[in-house]
Amino acid sequence: MEVKFYGGVNQIGGNKILIRDRKADASVFLDFGMNFTDSAKYFEEFVQPRASNGIVDFLEMGILPRLDGIYRPDLLRFARMPVHKEPMVDAVVLSHAHLDHSSHIAFLDEAIPVYCNRTTHAVLKSIQETGRRSIGGEIIDFKNRPILNSKEPPVERKFVLQDGKFKIGGLEIEMIPVDHSVPGATGMIIYGSDTTLAYSGDLRTHGTNGNLTREFVRRVAQESPDVFLCEGTRIDETDRNSETDVHARSTKVVAGTKGLVVADFAFKDTTRFATFLQVARENDRRLAIEFKDAYYVRELSKLVPGLPPISDDSLLLYQERKGTGTYGERDYEGWEREFLDRRNTVRADDLRKRQAEVIIALGFYDAPELIDLKPAPGSVFIKSASEAFNEEQKFDVTRLRAWLDHFGMGYDQIHASGHAPRDDLGFVMRESHAKKIVPIHTEHADLYSALCTTPIEQPVLSS
Ligand SMILES: [Zn+2]
Ligand SMILES: [Zn+2]
Repeated sequence: MEVKFYGGVNQIGGNKILIRDRKADASVFLDFGMNFTDSAKYFEEFVQPRASNGIVDFLEMGILPRLDGIYRPDLLRFARMPVHKEPMVDAVVLSHAHLDHSSHIAFLDEAIPVYCNRTTHAVLKSIQETGRRSIGGEIIDFKNRPILNSKEPPVERKFVLQDGKFKIGGLEIEMIPVDHSVPGATGMIIYGSDTTLAYSGDLRTHGTNGNLTREFVRRVAQESPDVFLCEGTRIDETDRNSETDVHARSTKVVAGTKGLVVADFAFKDTTRFATFLQVARENDRRLAIEFKDAYYVRELSKLVPGLPPISDDSLLLYQERKGTGTYGERDYEGWEREFLDRRNTVRADDLRKRQAEVIIALGFYDAPELIDLKPAPGSVFIKSASEAFNEEQKFDVTRLRAWLDHFGMGYDQIHASGHAPRDDLGFVMRESHAKKIVPIHTEHADLYSALCTTPIEQPVLSS
């Protein structure tokens, strides 16, 4: 069995791991994500790969690897590049829905099926259905390029929804749930003809489902794999803030606030949503969410235990002003219209009058909503996300603080990461009983050897 890395080496995210097993007559990619640092090297908000040039800008600037036999025939033809007869891989096996693992699936030949679980598929589908179509976001389906007739229906990508063990060619794969900051996250064990390989995906043990990660480690240990590809996003950090801490600290802040509470958290993280819903309930408040978030909660509540129906008494659906600004039905997209006339749909005017009864889930990009909400003095903004780590994010924090100062709002950062810190990674590595560990999804591969006695093998980026 051969393992090649086309991303995720000495960087966080962008995992594209090619497994080729000739005896088993199978080759699969484990994840096919985008690396944000690679992309940010050349691109930013106003400098983007040109959709009008199809795949070429992505290949030229090294955002996508130059590999024959994997990309969409329509994009290759458009770029005047040779089109393969058969794709050179049999499948992509997707660990979870985060874009640094899934995003570049949008460019893959639709003849390559994507294997993932139901929840991961539902996350990707909801995001695509509530977002604007763009060439880099067309994971579930895509429009053939060039788009000469916008009415032409999109091409559906083939997803094979799997849990547990299944086979691709002669290669057996086992997907095992882990705890992470998006529902449906999995690790994997690949049973090759001569090698057993485990893959962590992204994981932690300090979330509300930490037992899943411990169970994954136990399963890996039973197989004592030859190789364990293990993430190390936070191997240089010791902070062990848990989801329980987020609940406790947020409760304290909310209990001490008389005005409006704004909570800024990643909506894909249903665990964090559940935490803030609970905080709201325990403080006699209701959680107000935007329509796209209501859509997401409704779709995911079919699969994730404990998520409420969107008609739940503790939820309010916040109708933003759009288009003409008159709340007219035509200002809203087709998928939004079902939320317009619900019993628990509210507008800024309604919320302004009962600020002390509400936590509203809004991010920095929604800051102009504060103009309509008019937060009372003593209102508070809880940023429940990681600290800014690049220049652009730091500018955003400065701007956010200016908004909060303008409205006299307080600020708290209360967060628990989706990734295990150093000591927990040490536990995962030691208890895996792997014969060899390969650091991936980390900028600190040099720190692995201090955490366990297992031999560490550094991966090499293929090009
Ligand atoms: Zn990741
Ligand atoms: Zn992730």
